[in-house]
Amino acid sequence: MTRDAVTSARHQHRRRWMLAIPLVCFAFWSGGIGAAAQAAELPRILVLATGGTIAGQADPRATGAYKSGQITGEQLMQSVPGLDKLAKINAEQISSIGSQDMNDKVWFALARRIQDAFDKNEADGVIVTHGTDTLEETAFFLDNVVRGDKPVVIVGSMRPATAVSADGPGNLYEAVQVAADPRSRGRGVMAVLNDKIQGARSVTKTNTTSIETFSSANDGPVGYVDTAGGIRFMAQAPGFRRTTYQLPAGEQLPRVEIVYSHANMDAVPIEDAISHGAKGIVLAGVGDGNTSKSALDALEAAAKKGIVVVRSTRVRSGFVTRNVEVDDDKNGFVVSEDLNPQKARVLTQLLIAGGVTASAELQKAFTATW
Ligand code: ASP
Repeated sequence: MTRDAVTSARHQHRRRWMLAIPLVCFAFWSGGIGAAAQAAELPRILVLATGGTIAGQADPRATGAYKSGQITGEQLMQSVPGLDKLAKINAEQISSIGSQDMNDKVWFALARRIQDAFDKNEADGVIVTHGTDTLEETAFFLDNVVRGDKPVVIVGSMRPATAVSADGPGNLYEAVQVAADPRSRGRGVMAVLNDKIQGARSVTKTNTTSIETFSSANDGPVGYVDTAGGIRFMAQAPGFRRTTYQLPAGEQLPRVEIVYSHANMDAVPIEDAISHGAKGIVLAGVGDGNTSKSALDALEAAAKKGIVVVRSTRVRSGFVTRNVEVDDDKNGFVVSEDLNPQKARVLTQLLIAGGVTASAELQKAFTATW
């Protein structure tokens, strides 16, 4: 090749590069813009972490032992691959406790933060990470006080992050799928665990350790979710209504005790609740909300003193019915309908806090869903 030919080949090569560089830059620039535009379109999910086994870590000294609430919400979300494709996630820590220690203070903080995020349009959906022991109570409390139709999903796990075959990452992924889906709007607070979406009113923990523990005895799951098949919502009963109550000022609900009924029951637990200043008593009755004659007499005396008495049941499914074996009209009692004792307690607390103490009005609130 002559000197001239080499020079012209070099020039051609340089010219090609000069053309190619802007093209490459454009490709990067447009790719960046595309990714940014895609990220901007993703639903904004606020994660509020409270602790629980889902944030638990094994105790290296003891097989099977672990401590709840050791990992932050942010670490939790980062540990699940692929979430960035589903949503723009922002995590905040509300508490780091096992849910056996769940309390009014955390409940009020959660309710206020969720409402604020929705009112200021900071999020399209909220996920609460929670221990499974009292998950159903927090779900029901939030369902009763958070206004609006944006989805609130509560999620936990039965095994800590360090366990073989931990269930937390899958549950978190599915919780984001549900919270980010526009079809989840207007369905109230939902619990998402082990491929099931369950309503706050009916979901309950039924097994101490199995990952298949949550079920909705009276009405079944609201829907199903899995990473491959997506979300399938079941038909919702027509006429279903959700009532929300004003969150009381401060950070404490009135004292309402649950009294568990059993064979050979006497009045002592009821008298005890009264002497400790209970404003309400929920009976976890036998069968259709029944209890012994002496316990019933004590409850009747309590109602006469203005203490709210709600008959629920220790039986896992069914409804507690008025005026069957107990004369509720005469005694001024309320029946919990489908609400288990721990949820009947939450509703009783909210009603008393709102100044509702007359039995007829209380009863209306318990049946308002139908
Ligand atoms: N004790 C734990 C808790 O409720 C159990 C769990 O999360 O599964 O925080």
